[in-house]
Amino acid sequence: MSWEENVRTVVPYTAGEQPNKADMVKLNTNECPYPPAPGVERAAAGLDYRQLRLYPDPDTGVLTKVLAEYYHVKPEQVFVGVGSDDVLSMAFMTFFNGPLPVLFPDVTYSFYDVWAQLHGIPYKTCALDENWHICPRDYRQPNGGVVFPNPNAPTGLLEDLGTVEEIVAANRDVVVIVDEAYVDFGGVSALPLLKKYDNLLVVQTFSKSRAMAGMRIGFCIGSEKMIRYLQDVKFSFNSYTMNLPAQILGAEAVRDDAYFKETTARIVATRERVKGELKKLGFSFPDSSANFIFATHGHIPAERIFRALREADIYVRYWNKPRISNYLRITIGTEEQMERLLDFLKKYVDKNRKIC
Ligand code: PMP
Repeated sequence: MSWEENVRTVVPYTAGEQPNKADMVKLNTNECPYPPAPGVERAAAGLDYRQLRLYPDPDTGVLTKVLAEYYHVKPEQVFVGVGSDDVLSMAFMTFFNGPLPVLFPDVTYSFYDVWAQLHGIPYKTCALDENWHICPRDYRQPNGGVVFPNPNAPTGLLEDLGTVEEIVAANRDVVVIVDEAYVDFGGVSALPLLKKYDNLLVVQTFSKSRAMAGMRIGFCIGSEKMIRYLQDVKFSFNSYTMNLPAQILGAEAVRDDAYFKETTARIVATRERVKGELKKLGFSFPDSSANFIFATHGHIPAERIFRALREADIYVRYWNKPRISNYLRITIGTEEQMERLLDFLKKYVDKNRKIC
């Protein structure tokens, strides 16, 4: 008998690479290309390092209160975690505890099956239709819970609120998690549905639209009862998950709504311009409502483009997986970054046209 027989073996999630080259264009992990709000900089400069001596507030009180005010819910309806990955993992552990499979799309955030495996949760995927949309009728089969991102990742495609409600309403006896990591780039949030449905949990993050991926802040909003169950699991795991600077700086990011609206609008404007340019170069893609575009080229394989871009220090995301192996996920960066990408692609497509 070896100690290895009792190891909890898992196949981990593969995060996008984090290269650090001087002149690179990093469009591979959906980060915000703009800095966090000015108030975050001021608060960071004002942090008193002596405070780090103390444990942080385990209830993340200030951040919870600011979020509750911003989203017009009670603080008791808000749960904060170390990135939405932490919140989602905690929610999987708390709510997906039955014998029936949890349902999620076949093409979606690739952490869902990893958490299911880690926590021993049975799961089943439902195929997106040929236009990458969720088929709500697939979510009418017996199940132990439902989770999907809206907009979906990596497609960027938004489902309308009617479709989301149809799924939530058809599953009143389980928890439905809507992962809204990308909702601030033109999506429609399911938050208003909370008034009607106590089985809905809406998860969001500070990593994309609030430019704070490095701080690791995520949160979810649901019924008070649901949040109490989540807190119980969290406090049975680790009371002090969120550090003090993250709590202080996170609250500042929410307070500066004007900056938030300005930067997200800027990213949306760049995205719409880049869509037009990519089309001219022979790319097609689902119509993204997120801060990335999931694009395929008419005749050049995605993997070849991915490698060529990488050689030029332009990083995008590529997965060699069923259905999506001929697609690139391109994060929307600054106008200048996108210009460099488009310049490269123009030359590359032109060169490959001549070869063909
Ligand atoms: N949900 C989706 C759909 C994502 O793409 C990501 C980013 N990888 C996350 C959740 C997690 O983001 P974070 O942990 O940085 O909040």
